[in-house]
Amino acid sequence: MAKGTLLIDVMGYPHLCRECGAMQNWVWAVEARALGRDGMVEAVATDQELPVEIARGVLTAAGRPVAAALLGQRHERGHGFNPNICGRCKHQESWYSLESVVIEGAHRPRIILASAPHPVAQWRELMDALRDGAGYWYVGR
Ligand SMILES: [Zn+2]
Repeated sequence: MAKGTLLIDVMGYPHLCRECGAMQNWVWAVEARALGRDGMVEAVATDQELPVEIARGVLTAAGRPVAAALLGQRHERGHGFNPNICGRCKHQESWYSLESVVIEGAHRPRIILASAPHPVAQWRELMDALRDGAGYWYVGR
């Protein structure tokens, strides 16, 4: 692994599209392995621009460009947004759909969609923003 990088996992959870019924693994969090003390995992929900950007980078680096392209831009007002776009009908559901997926995903066995080394600097930026109370949703365990 290159210097200045750490291994990031992109977490997935199955979701049925409300528009067309297609089953897809939604991206709901990014996790940094074994960074914290006592083996604690740092994990942040992907409902803000920065964690979504990290997830997109990891998916691309892991050879999953199609999955990366299904993470879209913010189209809704309010605190968070749902970046997941349906692979079949291109529907992008609201943050409320993602919220239930994050809660489910956090309490079930983890599904890792992709893992790749990622610049430590951007992860630190995310952790700093978290500490500053910028509204990021910590789902670490
Ligand atoms: Zn759909």
